[in-house]
Amino acid sequence: MEQISSCPNCITRSVKPFYTVAPVPVHSVMLVPTREEALHFPAGKIALGFCNACGFITNTSFDESKMNYSPKCEETQGFSLTFQSFHTRLAKDLIERYGIHNKSVLEIGCGKGEFISMLCAMGRNRGIGFDPAFVAERRPDRGGDAVEFIEDFYSEKYMHIKADFIVCKMTLEHIPNTHQFVSMVRRSVGDNFDTTVFFQVPDMSRVLKDVAFWDVYHEHCSYFTTNALRNLFVTSGFDVVDIWTDYEDQYLMIAARPARWLPKNTKTLIPPSEKEISAVSSFAREAERRIQLWKDMMNRLKQQGRHVVVWGSGSKGVAFLSALGEYVDEGAIEYAVDINPYRKGCFMPGTGQEIVEPAFLSAYRPEVVIAMNSIYTSEIETDLKRHGVRAAVMPIEAIEAPV
Ligand SMILES: [Zn+2]
Repeated sequence: MEQISSCPNCITRSVKPFYTVAPVPVHSVMLVPTREEALHFPAGKIALGFCNACGFITNTSFDESKMNYSPKCEETQGFSLTFQSFHTRLAKDLIERYGIHNKSVLEIGCGKGEFISMLCAMGRNRGIGFDPAFVAERRPDRGGDAVEFIEDFYSEKYMHIKADFIVCKMTLEHIPNTHQFVSMVRRSVGDNFDTTVFFQVPDMSRVLKDVAFWDVYHEHCSYFTTNALRNLFVTSGFDVVDIWTDYEDQYLMIAARPARWLPKNTKTLIPPSEKEISAVSSFAREAERRIQLWKDMMNRLKQQGRHVVVWGSGSKGVAFLSALGEYVDEGAIEYAVDINPYRKGCFMPGTGQEIVEPAFLSAYRPEVVIAMNSIYTSEIETDLKRHGVRAAVMPIEAIEAPV
């Protein structure tokens, strides 16, 4: 396994690889129009490495040159009512907590622009959102003229744009050199000490605890526990104001303000906990065991002639099907279901299942629906009922439970 020279999160010692998966599709939210293209989708490799000094986890085999974020990336979760209510609650909470009224807001990685539009409409703010995957025709009405969008990555070239509140949700995990990136954000803030920055990433502590192998994919090259995220912000020149989890502990959130001085040495680093170190060392073995359980179960259901579908064609679905490997090509899982209409008729990168909308299931009649995120279970059950489908909904986390 490869060894990279230093940790990109705390710039101290080398990281040690502990878990590999290959081949995996390099992108997991890209719209792929044909099965042929899906089966020949560009592949990459995952070799997760762990930093003993700051607790950061990085894909040491991440190949940035293979990445191509564009409007063909369909990442929004905004079609889910569960997600919409979380998103609205978060916007309201941030506005109240940090007094974001009549202020300027900048969002790094704004996707299709839902969140920044909400922040601007709800707090009468003005905003500017950056994302190469932004699509002008899908611009939300909510923010009106108060929001401007730039179809590009946020980079050094935009550092002169100042804001009172900087938001960056579900983006930092796609960036390999996290220290370099957050330091750039710190430089852009300069001596505006009243600026608040808010970042949201997937919580790696939960991934380690649940051995959630479906949450490890090539688009995500950087993985954070609470300490890893705190260490990153402190060493990049921020004072941490709040750090917490939400969305059933799936998301890790941090609010920080610019510090007046950079810490002089690495003594400020909080090392990973014993629990994290032990979860890292058993991760590969436990993931393998769970993948085997899934394969056996899928095999059994196929022999019984049962129809099985996965619900959720995004990154988790792609990672899950890729981890199960060639087995799924045999038709044990023929379809992936998604409520996002833009995904309908496309195919899963790597494994090639067609993506269908929920209404399709009325005729296909699956007996088992694997929910790619248990937080959507009741929403899925309601949808199935609406389409007259009587299927068992099995959350992906329920892996150890026998069918
Ligand atoms: Zn580190």
